[in-house]
Amino acid sequence: MENHKCKSVGIVGCGIQGVCTGLQLIKRGIPVTIFDRNDPLSKEFKPASYGNAGHFSPYAVLQLNRTDILYDVPKMLLSSYGPLALKWNYVPKMFSWFYHYLKNCNKKSMLHTAKYMHQILNLSLDAYEEIFKEIDTTNLVEKKGIIYVWTNKNLKSRNLEIKVRKDLGIKQKLLSKEEIIKLEPNLNPVFDAGVIFDYAMHARDPHGILRKVFRLFLENGGKFIQSDVKSLSQTSYNETLIKTDNEEYKFEKSVIASGAFSKKFTDQLGEKIPLDTERGYHVHFKNQQDLISRPVIFLDRGFGMTPMNQGLRAVGTVELGGLENPLSKKRINYIINCAKELLPQLGNHDDEWLGFRPTLPDFLPILGPSLKNKNIIYAFGHQHLGWTLGAITGKIISGIVAGEKTNLDLTPYSSKRFN
Ligand SMILES: Cc1cc2nc3c(=O)[nH]c(=O)nc-3n(C[C@H](O)[C@H](O)[C@H](O)COP(=O)(O)OP(=O)(O)OC[C@H]3O[C@@H](n4cnc5c(N)ncnc54)[C@H](O)[C@@H]3O)c2cc1C
Repeated sequence: MENHKCKSVGIVGCGIQGVCTGLQLIKRGIPVTIFDRNDPLSKEFKPASYGNAGHFSPYAVLQLNRTDILYDVPKMLLSSYGPLALKWNYVPKMFSWFYHYLKNCNKKSMLHTAKYMHQILNLSLDAYEEIFKEIDTTNLVEKKGIIYVWTNKNLKSRNLEIKVRKDLGIKQKLLSKEEIIKLEPNLNPVFDAGVIFDYAMHARDPHGILRKVFRLFLENGGKFIQSDVKSLSQTSYNETLIKTDNEEYKFEKSVIASGAFSKKFTDQLGEKIPLDTERGYHVHFKNQQDLISRPVIFLDRGFGMTPMNQGLRAVGTVELGGLENPLSKKRINYIINCAKELLPQLGNHDDEWLGFRPTLPDFLPILGPSLKNKNIIYAFGHQHLGWTLGAITGKIISGIVAGEKTNLDLTPYSSKRFN
């Protein structure tokens, strides 16, 4: 521990990274103010941390920087019935992201990402369990495992995933088609096999959990300001400045936890970080959640279903198209069709939601101080796994802010890799 105790922290963003970081800091006795343009307790609060599939997936070490996927990308992009889509008007803005993606799409980078995702994913459930001791999670968290199903069409990719997980010592139980049907009898058997991660958990309401963590943060003395943050800077060696439309706020340190919106601030700080978004969608089938008892993901389709309190949440697809393009009805229809392929008995859907996964082209998050402004700490880029990684991110970032020593190798998460 360094002798100096940080006097105050401002956090931009009250998604799962921001709120978990705020909670850990306030528990260390450091005064914290979180800013968000929406109140986490309101209905208007609908960021990625609200609408995700709710999987706590500590096993999901392999990301999309894999050559087996790369060869399929052009085919997938040209098909409107595929898991990957592109908003063509956004392509010119993604050049830097694509450039870094191609650079990181090889076996060595894939395994590097897997190794360092594993380092933090492996700690993710325990970190949540610590928080769950302090909030009532009745009807909010379920521990029934998570099932992935697939057809025999892409067995090369499936075998690669199984091997990488095995090499990292990740527990997985392969399932035959019959075993899957035994576990989930309502599924239409359009798949050939699958895997269950029986220690995985799922949220029955991610927003409900986030609200409870946020309340705990407030009860411990944390402050919240609902405002759109316009800029963030370090003004002297021990002062950072957060500016909203009408006000300026000074903190000794600040944390950027604004998910896919974080690039605005790193650009202001003069760091070239190729953060972009993988847009994803969800719909609910109200009162249909009991058709399955745990999350089921259909890997060939890039989509999954989670039983939640709001209904059966069908979630998925990756659409590259930035933060401004409107919701795409084609993507919504794709998800509905996929859900009905697995559960033909489903009726009409409600709620159409578009969310923004914050994704860096090597699929590792950025966790650590800004290169040019040491009192500004980055906590973004958690892509498909930000829900799983919320609690552990809170622990890591609060440790960095407080100047604590860690046994973790944090170098791979530094923004240095892009500069
Ligand atoms: C369809 C979909 C399914 C997913 N499923 C899963 C899953 O099953 N498991 C999993 O682990 N992960 C999943 N994820 C990923 C996960 O949801 C995200 O990685 C995670 O929620 C990101 O958290 P965050 O706190 O970084 O960002 P966010 O949740 O986006 O929060 C950022 C916050 O910052 C605020 N903000 C931004 N800019 C400003 C500003 N200028 N001023 C004030 N406030 C600002 C926003 O209002 C927002 O509240 C999924 C994502 C999607 C889209």
